[in-house]
Amino acid sequence: MMEKVVITHKFRLYPSKQQEAKLMETLELCRQTYNILLNELNSQKVIDKSQIQGIIPNMKICDSSFKKLYSKTMQYECYRLFSNLSSLAKSKNKRKVGRLRFKGKGWFKTFTYNQSGFKLIVTGKRYQTLHLSKIGSIPIRCHRKIKGKIKQITIKKEASGKWHASIIEETKKIIKKQQIRKAVGIDLGLTDIIYDSEGNKITNPRHLKKHCEKLSSLQRKVSRKKKGSRNRKRMRIKLTRQYEKLVNTRNDFLHKTSKYYVDNYDAIGIEDMTITSMVNGHLAKHILDASWGKFRQMIAYKAERAGKLYIPVNHKGTTQRCSQCGEEIAKDLSERVHKCHFCGFKAPRDYNSALEIKKLTLKRIFEIGQELSESTLVEMEALPTQLATTVNETRSYSLN
Ligand SMILES: [Zn+2]
Repeated sequence: MMEKVVITHKFRLYPSKQQEAKLMETLELCRQTYNILLNELNSQKVIDKSQIQGIIPNMKICDSSFKKLYSKTMQYECYRLFSNLSSLAKSKNKRKVGRLRFKGKGWFKTFTYNQSGFKLIVTGKRYQTLHLSKIGSIPIRCHRKIKGKIKQITIKKEASGKWHASIIEETKKIIKKQQIRKAVGIDLGLTDIIYDSEGNKITNPRHLKKHCEKLSSLQRKVSRKKKGSRNRKRMRIKLTRQYEKLVNTRNDFLHKTSKYYVDNYDAIGIEDMTITSMVNGHLAKHILDASWGKFRQMIAYKAERAGKLYIPVNHKGTTQRCSQCGEEIAKDLSERVHKCHFCGFKAPRDYNSALEIKKLTLKRIFEIGQELSESTLVEMEALPTQLATTVNETRSYSLN
């Protein structure tokens, strides 16, 4: 079966000083375009998108500096305006949200080339070249090959001052739906990071912790510097770089871990959310929390590409319920061991959760299997029956 797959790649750009000035100018002109279009929108009694789009050519005539913008990049601002408008409308239900705001100087961080105006030139060397119409040929590091058709390129200025290109590629892929033979349940925790239903424990890589500590100490340093001072500004840049390092390390960890599960299992069940109430405001923990959302996304898209199943499982009760007999065993956070006085099952708390998640995963697969037609028969694995009462040995490994 052939399926269209859209993949986004993020590559670093290495613009020269001159090119960087042009990139900055483009951001600024896009901001102005956005504001002018917003002004037009605000003046309309009945919203008329085509009329707003129609003023773009006039803007070029009235102010020749807009000629420095690639026309589709300019038109993209109209798209951005309307997508902001629709997300504003969606958020309107709870509290009263006013109109869209004009964007102040320096607010714009991205601009986009849609469908045309760009060319990626593969040189076979360390740096490739990204040609952007009206800007020039910028060196780019592509750590992955792009074989499909490029649909869109978004240029972004990061807080640290680095430039990146997000390239949306469309390819066709043969997708084989695989039979489900091996399923796994994954518990995402705070202390042991990941516990799975096989008894594997994947712990936080040590250097991630190191980066976290460095970040916290830098943060304290920034707060001690005088507001608005040059030292503070310099510290903030350092802080942003450190944050980027941390995010990269974390992403690397998440990529490897999600790949491991997608490579080794046909169905992966994870709780649909993680309880965060216990977090004491610690930055490192805050980042770990954010990680789990990312981890689920990675599992989801990697599973999709590999023709495997990602199954979000309702998180309610998975930590309290006994995975063996289904009785509720109330325990607070400090209790790290699950001890069931109904059936005698004893296991690390997160392992019990992982087993429960696996059970719910299999249940869901069974339901999906019934929803599917006969031609896509799902081969079922038996529901886990009584396991050894105590798990003496939990295999544990670290990816780093
Ligand atoms: Zn029990």
